[in-house]
Amino acid sequence: MHEMGITRNIVSIVAEAAKSQKVRRVKLEIGKLSAVMPEALMFCFDVVSKGTVLEGATLEIVEVAGKAICRDCGANVELHQIVTACTCGSRDLKRISGEELNIKEMELEAA
Ligand SMILES: [Zn+2]
Repeated sequence: MHEMGITRNIVSIVAEAAKSQKVRRVKLEIGKLSAVMPEALMFCFDVVSKGTVLEGATLEIVEVAGKAICRDCGANVELHQIVTACTCGSRDLKRISGEELNIKEMELEAA
C-alpha cells in the first residue's frame, strides 16, 4: 500500500510547518489520475498521525479532475479516468494535470 509512504511524507511536512503547534485540519488536493485511494489515505493518516501534532486532526480530501488538451481540436478536456476521449472523438490528448497531490491548507489549533 503506497499510501502509507505518501501519508508519512504529508504528516512530516505538515508537522514541520506547524512547528510544535497542534494541527486541527489538513486539506489535501489529489488528482484523480494519481492512483491514490482517498479511503486508504484516511486510514493511513489515523495511524501515522498518532503521537504527532497532527493526532486527531481532520483530514479533508478534495479530488480534482485531470486536465488535458486535445491535439486534434484544441479543446480542454476534463479527465475523470485515465482513458477518455475528447468530445470530437479524438483520443490524442495531451495530459497537463491530474497526478498532483498538494497540501492545500492547514489549520492550527488556536493557541
Ligand atoms: Zn478534440
